[in-house]
Amino acid sequence: MPELPEVETTRRGLVPFVVNQRIATAIVRNHSLRLPVPRSLPRLVAGATIAAVGRRGKYLLFDCGPGTLILHLGMSGRLWIVDHGTPPEPHDHFDLVLDSGTVVRLRDPRRFGLVLWGNGDPLRHTLLAGIGPEPFDAAFNGDWLYRVTRNRTAAIKLVLMDGHVVAGIGNIYANEALFHAGVNPRQAAQRMGPGRCDLLADKIRETLELAIGAGGSSLRDYVGSDGVAGSFQSQFMVYDRAGEPCHRCGTPIKGIRQGQRSTFYCPRCQR
Ligand SMILES: [Zn+2]
Repeated sequence: MPELPEVETTRRGLVPFVVNQRIATAIVRNHSLRLPVPRSLPRLVAGATIAAVGRRGKYLLFDCGPGTLILHLGMSGRLWIVDHGTPPEPHDHFDLVLDSGTVVRLRDPRRFGLVLWGNGDPLRHTLLAGIGPEPFDAAFNGDWLYRVTRNRTAAIKLVLMDGHVVAGIGNIYANEALFHAGVNPRQAAQRMGPGRCDLLADKIRETLELAIGAGGSSLRDYVGSDGVAGSFQSQFMVYDRAGEPCHRCGTPIKGIRQGQRSTFYCPRCQR
């Protein structure tokens, strides 16, 4: 599933193709995504110029002036830059056709993605209003993490994956950040002291930065079956490495289940 680094990599890859470009039309081949694609969407976007492409959590925001095209990649979605006239494949549900002849194409086999329109400030849209602080914003730091975990008896890993606590962290980067911070994923969130919260906030940012840096900037880049961009897959410290030796101490990495998701950690490095 695409997490924040993959969405940010996608955003950066889009910018040179779409910013300051005029939209000719939108083609919706399948309206049945996680929420129905509005019937009025092609009419709303036609003729608009894309002033910027932003990101909030895992949502991509195409600033079209009076409104915003809001796009989410869901579980399996991926955007491609193709030339006008490129025949669609079976899961190519949506095209944004630009005057330049470039097409931004959404391929989403599992159809958990979203293509919506928001009037006015997109950050006030119901889907976006409740998202927690962006990991790279000043509002996200050890103090914030300490404050929001005081009443949370759940394991720290599950709390990190709660979008109200921090935006865009899914299973992969929760596992990786906890390794870098030396925190056991089963640790009760409320038992994290201020120092560990500071360290964890720093490591979350570092882990995401590393992944974004490895992601490249081309939408023609290879993306693996788990949706991770570029070469970062080979740099995982714990994710999907159960039984393999820890890169730091050699202890076999443990794999457990937490909240229906796979957790990986080093029992020696993460206490
Ligand atoms: Zn280790």
